[in-house]
Amino acid sequence: MARPIEQRRCHVCGQMSRCRVVEPYEETITHDGRTCVIRVPDLEIIRCTNPDCRPQQPSDMIILDDAAVRRLDAETYRQLGLLSPQEIRAQRERLGLTQQELQDLLRLGGNSLSRWESGAIYQSRSLDTLLRLAFTLPDALPTLRALPVARAQRDARGEVRSDAGGESVEHHVDDARCVG
Ligand SMILES: [Zn+2]
Repeated sequence: MARPIEQRRCHVCGQMSRCRVVEPYEETITHDGRTCVIRVPDLEIIRCTNPDCRPQQPSDMIILDDAAVRRLDAETYRQLGLLSPQEIRAQRERLGLTQQELQDLLRLGGNSLSRWESGAIYQSRSLDTLLRLAFTLPDALPTLRALPVARAQRDARGEVRSDAGGESVEHHVDDARCVG
């Protein structure tokens, strides 16, 4: 059986100097185009305690095991103010919807919902808000079902395209007159 990670040699200095310690940890991430610092005051990590260890980056002396990664992940959702993957899945199942059904009702593109539920990507704040409304408003599902979907979008796009085609020529002529 493999030895626990803290009982293996430090990959930087090669000494048996790894220890489990609880210490403040922070990580910078980008969400919605903003830079956010996620801070955990008491993360249990594995650190080399050899004072002569000389890593290129201080973070090279630190190892996050699965439990630390899970904790950091949960803190990230909490500090970003987002529903966690588990919460999204639980709420969707409470409504008796498949991923595809909820995805269609919310007009989500691609496979966004499955990627949120697996934690592969963070949902934006605006879509997190949309999810919360769908999960909490009693009338949300009937309202979403009553909204026009694909055919209406196609029709609207078709109208816009033909109208805009004609108008844009006229506008162009008008603009030219004004400028001239
Ligand atoms: Zn070391």
